[in-house]
Amino acid sequence: MAANLIDGKEIARQKKEAIAKEVEELKKAGILPGLAVILVGNNSASRTYVTNKEKTCKQLGMHSVLIEMPENASEEELLEKVRELNNDASIHGILVQMPLPKHISEIKVIETISPEKDVDGFHPVNVGKMMTGQDAFLPCTPYGIMVMLDFIGAEIEGKHVVVVGRSNIVGKPSGQLFLNKNATVTYCHSRTDDLKKYTKQADIIVAAVGKADLITKDHVKEGAIVIDVGMNRNSEGKLCGDVAFNEVKEVASFITPVPGGVGPMTITMLMANTLKAAKNIHKA
Ligand code: NDP
Repeated sequence: MAANLIDGKEIARQKKEAIAKEVEELKKAGILPGLAVILVGNNSASRTYVTNKEKTCKQLGMHSVLIEMPENASEEELLEKVRELNNDASIHGILVQMPLPKHISEIKVIETISPEKDVDGFHPVNVGKMMTGQDAFLPCTPYGIMVMLDFIGAEIEGKHVVVVGRSNIVGKPSGQLFLNKNATVTYCHSRTDDLKKYTKQADIIVAAVGKADLITKDHVKEGAIVIDVGMNRNSEGKLCGDVAFNEVKEVASFITPVPGGVGPMTITMLMANTLKAAKNIHKA
């Protein structure tokens, strides 16, 4: 059996089209959704992400501001900038690109962003709301995964979901969103003994580790859905995920490619969150 491809690019395109329409409507009511992105230092991967976020914002007709601060900016300077944006009526979403230089506490920065403008969904208020099943800003990658699965009409209730990886930005919140949808969730991580034993039982596997070819066909039950979050470079320098795509596609029912799977969804959900923030703030 060859798996169906989950085309993240196409799903993202459709979602962005819908967002752009809503932005257009809001503009008619005098509301222009605005996203501020803060980049500290000159990490080249971070710069690429930030540039893409700005570009997508503009594509969708939103207001976008990029604030660049030098690598040696102090924690207080950054916190002050965040507070300023919290009070800026033209800004509805604030994103501080991670990782930050070591002398700056990421937790402090996240906690300084107003929960109403926390479009990354990392603030403890939003994390807590998500955990308790309340309306919240959902972290973009896990949110994107759920939207993809919804798009293909995947059944989640009662299914066994195995999430490989337990980071605060991808693994943990992904599992929580599945639990909120009544799945049975297992988390695996670097200390998991016999990964295969768990993944082999999964109806849905989410691989969010950062290791090429970690998930092979021997890890996957026939007919499982496989979501590959990983972003790695293979020996030829090509972008690849955590899943050995060519062999796993022979056993899975659905699979996301890398690139063109989860990646395009992540940035799209950031735009969806910014739109949501603008609507919330203006009660539109
Ligand atoms: P982290 O490094 O924060 O977390 C990786 C997780 O994988 C940890 O929980 C770690 O366990 C676990 N892990 C490490 N080795 C193994 C192993 N051999 N078996 C099982 N679990 C293991 O990464 P992120 O969550 O931030 O990102 C994961 C991947 O997803 C990366 O490749 C990243 O680039 C990509 N990514 C992609 C995005 C997209 O939009 N497509 C967005 C965000 C991330 P432990 O906790 O025990 O250390």
